[in-house]
Amino acid sequence: MTAFWAEPDFDAHECVQLVHHRASGLTAIIAIHSTHLGPAAGGTRFWHYADPAGAMRDALRLSRGMSYKNAMAGLPMGGGKAVILAGADAAKTPAILAAFGDAVDALGGRYITAEDVGITEADMVAVSQRTKYVSGLPVAGEGSAGGDPGPFTAMGIYHGIKAAVQHKLGRDSLAGVHVAVQGTGSVGGGVARLLAKDGAKLTLADIHATRAADLAGELGANVVASDAIMSVGCDVFSPNALGAILDEDGIARLDCAIVAGGANNQLAKAEHGALLAGRGILYAPDYVINAGGIISVATEYLARRDGVAADINEVRKRLAQIPGRLNAIWRESDASGDSSDVVADRMAQELIGRG
Ligand code: NAD
Repeated sequence: MTAFWAEPDFDAHECVQLVHHRASGLTAIIAIHSTHLGPAAGGTRFWHYADPAGAMRDALRLSRGMSYKNAMAGLPMGGGKAVILAGADAAKTPAILAAFGDAVDALGGRYITAEDVGITEADMVAVSQRTKYVSGLPVAGEGSAGGDPGPFTAMGIYHGIKAAVQHKLGRDSLAGVHVAVQGTGSVGGGVARLLAKDGAKLTLADIHATRAADLAGELGANVVASDAIMSVGCDVFSPNALGAILDEDGIARLDCAIVAGGANNQLAKAEHGALLAGRGILYAPDYVINAGGIISVATEYLARRDGVAADINEVRKRLAQIPGRLNAIWRESDASGDSSDVVADRMAQELIGRG
């Protein structure tokens, strides 16, 4: 057996906890990558893994990603992630959520949890019955920070696309800029609505064809089949569905000047960042441009911890810093010749004391 420390995805994580609770049937991994900047924040994924090694890989990779994302968002939070290994029937019981809340609580605030794939706001409310180290809970009403992170993620991406268009195309307005949006769910739909307000020309695609068609009808946009969206001739390709779409085949198909969207882990492998740059395409590193959601979640948590109301203006202020960070990355990329993903990783590592 390989030593755990030699696992390719192990990156000197501060703590990797395996949790098994016999009475409820909970099996989980809580990975704390770094608390250098503050408590390790990152969501909980509920997923059935055919092979438990896949769950460990997810926990290790995603927690490191959260360290980078939180650092680059300027948040006083480290990076962590939890994975609950669902059974084949994917049953999520109150007992499992309660036991998970106890496991988070036992870490004494080193790890702060929230929603990720397979976990709803109601699940987080259940977890919050057992621990205060939780965020992404329902909020008081419109205009409050916190709650569903999707609209905040979309707003950050919109700011990032504007910055990319300015940097690459030298245009100060989005009017007439053609953006191809892959995925019209919570994030992609929000991005499309914001772009439409600025007069961008939109082409949309979703594997749920009616979802894209309905939004296109509302916004006066075009629709293409989901397997055609990556080759649409456009200014900006905005991926807001799956990760790992930027592989050799995907990059070869692109007919755009910019890739800027919210999907996590867009580059299939590290070397694909250089391939994209080699084609002259400007890339907005995913964890920098899609940080709006965690900005809201962290602001909500810190306010609740301090017993004050979460301030929407604080969230807006942090969201408005996303373009500045992207510009710093692109400037450094232009100066050094390193691709923007490599530059972003380097900056994040320095911020978390691992430069
Ligand atoms: P969502 O489920 O609301 O929307 C995803 C949409 O993509 C769905 O409409 C789905 O039908 C569509 N889709 C899936 N595969 C597709 C394909 N091959 N081609 C076209 N469309 C496809 O999810 P979301 O919350 O909007 O998240 C979208 C992406 O953004 C994910 O990668 C997620 O990890 C990332 N992200 C989300 C947030 C957030 O706050 N929600 C924050 C950071 C990153």
